[in-house]
This record gives sequence, C-alpha cells and structure tokens, in this order.
Amino acid sequence: MTDGLVSGPVRPGVSAATRVVGVMGDPVAHSLSPLLHNTAFAVLGLDWVSVGFAVPDGQAAPAVAGVRALGIAGLSVTMPHKAAVAAAVDRLTPVAAALGAVNCLYRDGDDLVGDNTDGAGFLASVHRGAGFDPAGKRCLVVGAGGAARAVVLALADAGAAEVVVVNRTANRAVAAAAVAGGRGRVGTVADAADADLVVDATPTGMAGTGTNVTEVAGGEPLVPADRLGPGQVVADLVYHPLVTPWLAAAGARGATSVGGLGMLVHQAAVQLERWTGRPAPVEAMWEAATDEVGSAGVVSR
Ligand code: NAP
Repeated sequence: MTDGLVSGPVRPGVSAATRVVGVMGDPVAHSLSPLLHNTAFAVLGLDWVSVGFAVPDGQAAPAVAGVRALGIAGLSVTMPHKAAVAAAVDRLTPVAAALGAVNCLYRDGDDLVGDNTDGAGFLASVHRGAGFDPAGKRCLVVGAGGAARAVVLALADAGAAEVVVVNRTANRAVAAAAVAGGRGRVGTVADAADADLVVDATPTGMAGTGTNVTEVAGGEPLVPADRLGPGQVVADLVYHPLVTPWLAAAGARGATSVGGLGMLVHQAAVQLERWTGRPAPVEAMWEAATDEVGSAGVVSR
C-alpha cells in the first residue's frame, strides 16, 4: 500500500507471454480488483496479470475495441461504463441482458461476452456468511441502484418467494422490483418485520468514512435496526467499514449479519473463473481483501 493505492503481490516474471486482464473504470486507481485477481493468479501459478485501465466516460466502445485488438483476456468493468460496455460487446449473458449492465467481460472463442457477476457474488456471500438459501424465502432489498437490481434479480432467480424493494425514490423502486418479475413488489419499512433476509444496497453505511472515491449521501438507513432481530439474515453491501453501524446494531439484536466484503470477493472469483476456466482460490482472495480493507480504507472495486 503506497499513497493510498492498492499494490498487491509483486510479479517479477511478467513477460511478453503474460496474459493480461484488467479493471476498466474512472476512477480506477483505488480498485481492489487487481489485488484480488493477482492474488489468485499467484496462488494458481498462472502467468497472468491484472492492471487498471482508467477510461474516461464516453470511451467504453473504443476501449472494448482495444480489448479485442490487443488480445486482452478479460475485464472487470466498473463505473461509469457498465451500461456502455453492455452495448459494445458481441453478446450478453441472460443476467447482464436483464440488468443492462456488465461488470465482467470475457472471451468465448472470437466473441467478447458481457456478464454481470454481482448477483452470483451476493448469493455466495450470504450462503457463506449465514448459510442462507433464498428458495421460498421472503426477501427485502433497500435501494434501487445497480447493485440492488443485481441482488433483486439473483434472489428471484434463486427461487425467493417474494422480493420487496424499499427505496427513497419511488419510481426507481418500481423499476427495481420489476426486475424480479412476478415475485417483485414495492414495499415499505413495515415489510421488514416479515422478511427472512433484509439487504441494504445503499451507500449509507459508508457515511463518516471520509471516502473521496465514492460520493456518499448521508442519512440514516431506511430500515432502522430496531425493526430487525432473531431469525433474520441482515446483509449490507458496503464493505468499508467491514461492519457498518446498521449491521452491528442488527447483529446485537440477534440477527445474523453479513458484510459486503463477501460479495466483493465472490463476484471477483466468478470473474476469474470466466477468464481462466479454473476454480478461484476464494480463501486467499478473501484474506487479501480483508487485509487491505481492514488496514487501508480502500473503497472501490
Ligand atoms: P447507485 O446505483 O448509485 O444506487 C444507490 C442507491 O442508494 C439508490 O437506490 C439511492 O436511492 C440509494 N441511496 C443513496 N443515498 C441514500 C440515502 N442517504 N438514503 C437512502 N437511500 C440512499 O449505487 P450502487 O452501485 O447500486 O451501489 C450501492 C452500494 O453498494 C454502494 O455503497 C456500493 O459501494 C455497494 N456495492 C457493493 C458491492 C460489493 O461487492 N460488496 C457491489 C456493488 C455495490 P435513490 O434511488 O433514491 O437515489
């Protein structure tokens, strides 16, 4: 860690034969993706490297053309390019098509394929953190942005009985609930009492962290922790801090709490598997992410 930037494992063996992947976004210098993926490459003994590509807004299409021409093996895609990359690839996975957003670009033969691994990462993280399986369960998601929509879709696809969306801005809640088809509806804070899973997919848990990377709106969580308790799984997508005040308060009331780091690690693990075809060394990636976030205050992917 130097000057707030994520360094990651040293790779003295990088050569002309090294396969290159990267994270494309703006800003990108504080992204955790290269740390996670370079850790995995080192553990797997692969001659691959991940780097950051700072691509200004509006330049996603030429950047994707560059990926094709340069033989870059894959990309993580982050703000502000998720929608533009979806329009620039050869085809989309069903999840990326439903969300209209790509966070992972991989090669399949001559095709560049756009995928979205956030939902799969979320499901893996609540399974790991709480043994939670959404099948037949009542789920409530607070927020209606890109992350919330990915979670809503994943929960519906995994067989949730219903996915209730609560959001500050009403028309965005309607659009996010629609992602879950017949299982989705807009709800209110009162719905939290009956939910098996309550997810905060807003940045409110980052308030007070002093981040200069993500614009953080202040404010209290829409679902107060005193409405939550035993028998419920409570997940916050924020991972800086590792445990948000809302999560800590819900945990103290007896809920099983799951922080956002698991989603970060698992969505990156799925990306690595798309690129390399190898199972990701999740524990090593987890350890690297925990060390970095715990020590540094890194706040973006
Ligand atoms: P986004 O597209 O900007 O959406 C933000 C959502 O939060 C919107 O629904 C917004 O409500 C709501 N919101 C913002 N400030 C609020 C406040 N003060 N009170 C109530 N609601 C508020 O952001 P995103 O990409 O979905 O990301 C959301 C959070 O998830 C971020 O903190 C991000 O870091 C985190 N995240 C984590 C992972 C992970 O791997 N752990 C992955 C993706 C995202 P309105 O619609 O009313 O504006």
